[in-house]
Amino acid sequence: MLKTVLFRVLTVVVALYGAAGVAVSAQEQRPFTLVLDPGHGGKDYGCVGKLTNEKTIVLDVARRLGKIIGKEHPEVKLEYTRDTDRYLTLQQRADVANSARGDLFVSIHVNSVDKRSRNRQSVHGASVYTLGLHKSDNNLSVAMRENAVMELEPDYSAKYQGFDPNSSESYIMFELNQNSHVANSIEIAGSMQNELIATAGRADKGVRQAGFWVLWAVAMPSVLVELDFICNPRMEQFLNSADGREKCARALANAFTAYYSRHRRTDIASKAARSEELSGDTVARHTEAATEAADASRAEPTYHVQFLTSGSRLQASDRRLAGVDNVECYHDGGLYKYYSGSFTTLSQAKKALAKVRKKHPEAFIIKLQDGKRI
Ligand SMILES: [Zn+2]
Repeated sequence: MLKTVLFRVLTVVVALYGAAGVAVSAQEQRPFTLVLDPGHGGKDYGCVGKLTNEKTIVLDVARRLGKIIGKEHPEVKLEYTRDTDRYLTLQQRADVANSARGDLFVSIHVNSVDKRSRNRQSVHGASVYTLGLHKSDNNLSVAMRENAVMELEPDYSAKYQGFDPNSSESYIMFELNQNSHVANSIEIAGSMQNELIATAGRADKGVRQAGFWVLWAVAMPSVLVELDFICNPRMEQFLNSADGREKCARALANAFTAYYSRHRRTDIASKAARSEELSGDTVARHTEAATEAADASRAEPTYHVQFLTSGSRLQASDRRLAGVDNVECYHDGGLYKYYSGSFTTLSQAKKALAKVRKKHPEAFIIKLQDGKRI
């Protein structure tokens, strides 16, 4: 049984890589595409509170987020899996994202715990998930609840290749998730988590990993955001308010801006192609344009002040991160490396370095491109 599941997993992985390969060759011409996925919808209400429900909250937050990004980055292409109150299967969400050839997939949800849980009224905090094998039963139960949407579909077992959202054995397949999008997914998850705490005032439940089927099915960096707990009346009030939703949207938009500034492609690639078409004479010029285009398809490098390295991801409340502004983190060689700020010039970074060194004398300047150190 497990063998069959693994075989099917591999078949789908190969299929996904195939789709991604097509996307790469055409991507120079394309705008950065952000896929927003408000969870649930229509007959699927998601978690239900006393005042409202998950499908309503997350649709509104996604629309507000799209509005901010539309204003601040008009060149970014926004794709919604749903922008009305309608039911969609997990597969349909993945299909929308993959056929739009998204560059980033953000699924928005609201959390809850079981009716029998003693902390139901008090549990609170945001967590951002990336795809992986859960390290705790809590993470597994969040993934199980979100994946259980499948059961609304007749013969879901056949459609989802024998995957059973309620069987913990099924989740072993997510351990195989070693694709090229892991680092970028963790990067945006870290930024979103920090922003949900700093900008939306949520408590920190940390960046986590679990087997969300929809994250597994999309061929791009992807995260699933749990904004807060609807079962806690105080948190529900926040999630039900226009102010609370706007704060959540603003937090996610800030994180997107930071990620986008590191990963966007410029349009020089298409310009170079056009100028080559117009002049079209020497081979040398052709080669030059192609080289320039290849370079331009990468994000501009940015400067940052690195001050801390850790073997595990730190809570935002960790005292080692205290007193440093705009903390971000990148994952490198199995380590989480923490830095402050994002600057386009070295002299700006040097100014920031002097400040950070008061607290962390060993801090130094790094240069990042596409989320990697160069
Ligand atoms: Zn949900």
